[in-house]
Amino acid sequence: MKIRNLLILGIGVFFSASILFAAVNTMYNWECTKCFTVVQKDGSPNTGSCPAKGGHSWSKLGKVGNNQYQCRKCGMSVASDMTPNYLKCPNGGTHSWSKL
Ligand SMILES: [Zn+2]
Ligand SMILES: [Zn+2]
Repeated sequence: MKIRNLLILGIGVFFSASILFAAVNTMYNWECTKCFTVVQKDGSPNTGSCPAKGGHSWSKLGKVGNNQYQCRKCGMSVASDMTPNYLKCPNGGTHSWSKL
């Protein structure tokens, strides 16, 4: 009986852990506000080396999703869950997102 309870507890812990793991693995769009490269990653990307000087400076655009957004000013397009953040646009000011 005791072993059976332990087994059930074990399975419960395993499932809770996999749910947590799935939540941690949410993908985000990241934009370097220096060279304007966009990457998709679950956590903050490595600084690496930025063509604009030094290391990349990543800012979060938002969750990756099935909607396509394009900036009317620079033409950058992002697959996003909802309207991406209005980060710095290479054509001046902030991006001007419109849903495609
Ligand atoms: Zn960069
Ligand atoms: Zn833009």
